[in-house]
Amino acid sequence: MTSSLDARVAAVAAAFAERFGYRPTGVWRAPGRVNLIGEHTDYNDGFVLPFALEQSALVAAAPRGDQGVRISSLDLGETHELSLDEIVPGSGGWQAYLAGTLWALREAGHPAGGLDLVLSSDVPVGAGLSSSAAIECAVMAAAVDLFDLDLSRLDRARLCQRAENAYVGAPTGLLDQAASTLCTAGHALFLDCRSFDSRQVPLPLGEAGLEILVLDTHTPHTHVDGEYAARRGACEEAARRIGVPALRDVVDLPAALALLDDELLRRRVRHVVTEDARVLETVQLASDGRLEQIAPLLDASHASMRDDFEITVETVDTAVETARAAGALGARMTGGGFGGCIIALCRQGAGDGVGTAVAEEFARRGFNAPTWFVAHPADGAGRVG
Ligand code: ADP
Ligand code: MG
Repeated sequence: MTSSLDARVAAVAAAFAERFGYRPTGVWRAPGRVNLIGEHTDYNDGFVLPFALEQSALVAAAPRGDQGVRISSLDLGETHELSLDEIVPGSGGWQAYLAGTLWALREAGHPAGGLDLVLSSDVPVGAGLSSSAAIECAVMAAAVDLFDLDLSRLDRARLCQRAENAYVGAPTGLLDQAASTLCTAGHALFLDCRSFDSRQVPLPLGEAGLEILVLDTHTPHTHVDGEYAARRGACEEAARRIGVPALRDVVDLPAALALLDDELLRRRVRHVVTEDARVLETVQLASDGRLEQIAPLLDASHASMRDDFEITVETVDTAVETARAAGALGARMTGGGFGGCIIALCRQGAGDGVGTAVAEEFARRGFNAPTWFVAHPADGAGRVG
């Protein structure tokens, strides 16, 4: 546990005691995540390779013994009171992510009762690092321990996904919640989005003299939901025309492309099929301890997202190009696209300089100032206090 995590755990427990007048039973943590490679492959039944961040949501919690729920955000200074009998999908606000997790548990027949909880998170919000899954998975971890629920880690992730899909109303895949729940420190999580089998892939960056920079471009998001739906629709249409259940099933790319007379669909298919292959290759390289050789795959992934899937924007392309020019070994946009973050594989100690170079280029071009940090693959959800 890092000292800053210790301090955060103490602060959220103290805030609980101050707000509710008694001490919490414990404090639980669940991280944000970044996807190393495998973009827009999840809804094509394909492969993803996220790792958990040190940045995390913390929840101090205690059971109440009734149906009441008090939810307080230390970051927003807001408290909401509700009753488990009343929570129904569609109620909005940040508290929906927490209430939705309790709702999903109870709807699936798990006896989660009322509780008091205080939330605090240092996962950047809306940057594509999954602050939403972090808070769901932290509440889930607390509820599993407090009510002694019998749930595998995968089932926990699926119920958090259900909270986000059916309660909050965001149509996301399982990637975020699986990463937040299943990841282990020093590893990435290889997840098969069809079978939901997963495997820990070692990512000993420090030992290899490497580090991964995560840089948020702070691009204002526009039309993201519509573009996501359009990409998803195109992939489903292409799979139908090719005659496979999902694009993951394409084994002969040239043959599949020959079945499509639509250039746009051909490009969409090429991205998904080559991206799945890049995930598999990355897993192989990491398993063989050849981490540096991942760099060209990151570059190829970015080119594929830019040219074939058309989900990058000027700020993101600039960040990737500048990072490479400043010494990054490889770089790509990470997340759904149209803004958000890039990751850059750098020599150890070089990440900060790469971030500074991107900030200078952004200033020259009049873009919003980026923020960045060096990411260390961290543990998934669990009790920390
Ligand atoms: P992302 O998951 O990429 O960060 P989302 O839009 O999926 O973006 O989720 C962000 C939402 O999660 C916020 O708008 C807010 O409702 C909720 N959230 C995240 N962090 C906190 C926090 N510390 N306190 C309260 N709500 C939070
Ligand atoms: Mg989210």
